Amino acid sequence: MVDEQLVRRGITDPRVLAAMRKLLRHLFVDEALRDRAYGDHPLPIGGGQTISQPFIVGLMTELLQLTGAEKVLEIGTGSGYQAAVLAELARRVCTIERLPDLASRARALLERFGYMNVWVRVGDGALGWPDEAPFDRIVVTAGAPAVPPPLFEQLAEGGRLVLPIGDVAAQTLTIVEKVGGDMRQTPHSGCVFVKLIGKYAWEN
Ligand code: SAM
Repeated sequence: MVDEQLVRRGITDPRVLAAMRKLLRHLFVDEALRDRAYGDHPLPIGGGQTISQPFIVGLMTELLQLTGAEKVLEIGTGSGYQAAVLAELARRVCTIERLPDLASRARALLERFGYMNVWVRVGDGALGWPDEAPFDRIVVTAGAPAVPPPLFEQLAEGGRLVLPIGDVAAQTLTIVEKVGGDMRQTPHSGCVFVKLIGKYAWEN
């Protein structure tokens, strides 16, 4: 998976590649789907949601430019796989999922794998996690119509936010930086995500 889907498509961060080589992705999907867990595609995880394609996980993680010292907020815990990748690469990970069943399954898995630096919460992630702010990095793993203002507010100065922005059918993976308090947006590449649902996002 790592060599054929990530390295071949230009993911180079050795820490990202090592984390994704180490993690057992098949343990984050239903038993019936385990033989497809390392394929080049998203997979259903229940509740109409998906675990993202491995390449997209690698790309978003690389775009975060993690050194190991950061406090990271993830919106859209889903299966917990991206949170586990982040937990390997950052100091502290806060992750928010709006669907309670997915959040409790992910929490149980992350505990089982011994991650002591991940906190899972149920709620509307577009509102962020004010008690834990500011965050050095934020990643949104669902498609938003625009940057949710609370997330930019909760981003540390010099921080990076990576999220898909666009309409419901297709989005652009976008890097948002906070520079002198101002928002700098850099479009990266096309992508297709499930909807970010919430106050500053799409209606359910
Ligand atoms: N990162 C996940 C993983 O590694 O499996 C994949 C995430 S899936 C593509 C998108 C997730 O975002 C879904 O689980 C969905 O329920 C969640 N979601 C959508 N809107 C949300 C919101 N406002 N707050 C928190 N989670 C949200």
